[in-house]
Amino acid sequence: MAKAIEVEAARRAVLARVRPGPVEEVGLGAALGRRLGIDAIAAAPVQPFDNSAMDGFAVRAADIAGAGDGSPVALALVDESRAGSPAARPLGAGEAIAISTGAMLPAGADAVVRVEDTGPGPATPRGPADPGSGPPSSPGATPPRVLIRVAVPAGTCVRRAGEDIGAGETVVRGGTELGPAELGALATIGLDPAPVRRRPRVAVVTSGDELTPPGRPLGPGGIRDSNSRTVPALARLAGAEVVSVAWTPDEPAATRAALGRALEADVAIVCGGVSVGEHDHVKAAMAELGAEEVFWRVALKPGGPTWFGSRGEALAFGLPGNPVSAMVTFLTFVRPALIAMAGGDPAARRTTARLGVDYEKPTDRAHAVRCRLELDERGWVAWPLPRQGSHVLTSMLAADALALIPTASAGCAAGETVEVELLDRASSSMGR
Ligand code: AMP
Ligand code: MG
Repeated sequence: MAKAIEVEAARRAVLARVRPGPVEEVGLGAALGRRLGIDAIAAAPVQPFDNSAMDGFAVRAADIAGAGDGSPVALALVDESRAGSPAARPLGAGEAIAISTGAMLPAGADAVVRVEDTGPGPATPRGPADPGSGPPSSPGATPPRVLIRVAVPAGTCVRRAGEDIGAGETVVRGGTELGPAELGALATIGLDPAPVRRRPRVAVVTSGDELTPPGRPLGPGGIRDSNSRTVPALARLAGAEVVSVAWTPDEPAATRAALGRALEADVAIVCGGVSVGEHDHVKAAMAELGAEEVFWRVALKPGGPTWFGSRGEALAFGLPGNPVSAMVTFLTFVRPALIAMAGGDPAARRTTARLGVDYEKPTDRAHAVRCRLELDERGWVAWPLPRQGSHVLTSMLAADALALIPTASAGCAAGETVEVELLDRASSSMGR
């Protein structure tokens, strides 16, 4: 029997066969959760012009250097700069221009005084057409005035062009998953639609005579098919499009037919039937279909009898049928592939945590231990969940992560740092 491959070597072998998918243009309104296909670079600064951080009056700081509470400085109010409609003229000496938050700073101005630090100007002679207050003044009329009650240095309440993003700056890197902030940043540089990687297309097949469809009574020895629910859901959370979910009985021709259809997708995943039992037909069917074996059997518990191969650009995974094994091997081998196919970094789902309790194991294979994560004053603590059997699917309900204890380790003492693979929560991909 083939020697089992180590987990990290298996993962590398999978990733070595990944080709990032093609790039397609998608409107930002539909791009949540997609991965960016290129580095997004700003062509122009954001914001494109110097603008006001407050509602107030644009001034020349030198004109109001002597202003104070008891000695306000009166400036002629000559125009207005509103968000979206700049002032029509530059600011001259002794003048103020009313300005709104985000509006363009008029040429000649170098500071903004908040409206709270000003007051209406003293009564001035007004022309008959003058409405009495507020900008802009009509030509020929004496402009209204505004009293500035504070002195401010140049630059006060001014947001410089490009403070958020400079021209030529990379705003979002290729491969990044687009969340709300990324979508906003792309919108702000005008990249809509955006080039994103096509979602990898995944076909799932579950296998086993015992699997009974919903609504049918369980016959003798029958069980419900949970992998047909967990695995497509895991695939979607990993950014894939699930194109089909099929079932095959433990019969060679039916297995071959189901796998043949699944291999039309970018990634074919079959659950069960990949062991050495007389009724396990997956390996033989894959060979007959021209899918080349890369590895079979991984030094991992749960999830030993995992098969991986490829046919052309298509990747094929044979996951063990036990419900926990299927989920664990998906997270360990399939998810990294799906993330990489969309241009992402699979290592981003790895971190470290301290183990909450002693954990012993033999040194024959690595263990993926389902854990709950808890934060204490020193960081994340991984608490192994009770009942780690590969058939105990309910142990996944509370799991936040898999703690990865390497083959050579005879176990870890409480407090030791271990690598963990983080699980996804459904809330992280709502609407997909
Ligand atoms: P296999 O990998 O086909 O030898 O299956 C291993 C164990 O997993 C057996 O107990 C199967 O009944 C169970 N199993 C296989 N496929 C599924 C499935 N889709 N849903 C739930 N249990 C399964
Ligand atoms: Mg089976």
